[in-house]
Amino acid sequence: MTKVAFIGLGNMGAPMAANLVKAGHAVSGFDLVEAAKTAAEGTGVTIAPSAREAVRDAEVVVTMLPAGRHVLAAHAEFLDAAPKGALVIDCSTIDVDSAKRAHAAGGAAGMLTLDAPVSGGVGGATAGTLTFMCGGSDEAFAKAKPLLEAMGKRIVHCGGAGAGQAAKICNNMILGATMIVTCEAFALAEKLGLEAQALFDVASTASGQSWSLNSYCPVPGPVPASPANRGYKPGFAASLMLKDLKLAQEAAASVGAATPLGAEAAQLYALFVAAGHGGDDFSGVINFLRGARGAA
Ligand code: NAD
Repeated sequence: MTKVAFIGLGNMGAPMAANLVKAGHAVSGFDLVEAAKTAAEGTGVTIAPSAREAVRDAEVVVTMLPAGRHVLAAHAEFLDAAPKGALVIDCSTIDVDSAKRAHAAGGAAGMLTLDAPVSGGVGGATAGTLTFMCGGSDEAFAKAKPLLEAMGKRIVHCGGAGAGQAAKICNNMILGATMIVTCEAFALAEKLGLEAQALFDVASTASGQSWSLNSYCPVPGPVPASPANRGYKPGFAASLMLKDLKLAQEAAASVGAATPLGAEAAQLYALFVAAGHGGDDFSGVINFLRGARGAA
């Protein structure tokens, strides 16, 4: 049994904290929102009156917050209240620069630190099947792994500070761009009179295959579990895809990497979200590409 403090009990944090409780850990949690605290309490999380109180006896602190500025602000608030030598794991998806600053702040306060963003969404958080992409020292990773295994099924040590965030945004840049071109191919096939199933049968076993096509096909039919079969309800919301594509662009600009297709993908998802589709699954961009009349 490990004493864990969990800061940020939102859509992802709440089910992750619940899985830690189920695995037998003592979880003390905090969130700014009353409803989030009440819901987490119902799953066995002990709610603390502040982040500082939540971390007071913690051996491990997990943060699951919206963006870099929230993570840095939360760290500044609780780091000197946590026991020296505690392990601080940030599971939020944030910019690489802020992740490195969070490591530096934690290190200066005598903590072990790990950036460990996830993929798998709310479904994976609930089922305990998330993938964790970790950045930090071997010691921090070794200490974190058994705990992360209570919340996920793949735990990958990607390298030093910030490497988890780098892996996450590179992966999601591939995902965003391949989804768009997959949607373009289905929209083109329709105009050419080619059946969607026929395109799927060929491309999913040929050189056009990808996760976006084979496992998450953006048209109804070929992959029954994909969001296309349920009106493009997420899944993975377009607003979250846009967030990750913007993070990838920020990172690319900061190191001078050329990512022209990543930039195009970010622009297209920005238009899709601005048109009111931020809550749609990101594969719903196919309707946008077909023209506004078909938009979900
Ligand atoms: P969310 O908005 O549902 O939850 C974030 C929670 O943090 C909120 O409840 C908010 O009140 C709380 N919070 C903000 N500042 C705080 C502070 N200083 N102290 C305590 N609580 C604070 O977001 P989410 O969907 O749970 O996502 C969390 C992170 O996980 C994000 O970085 C997101 O990009 C990433 N992520 C989300 C998904 C997904 O499918 N939702 C998938 C992968 C990664």
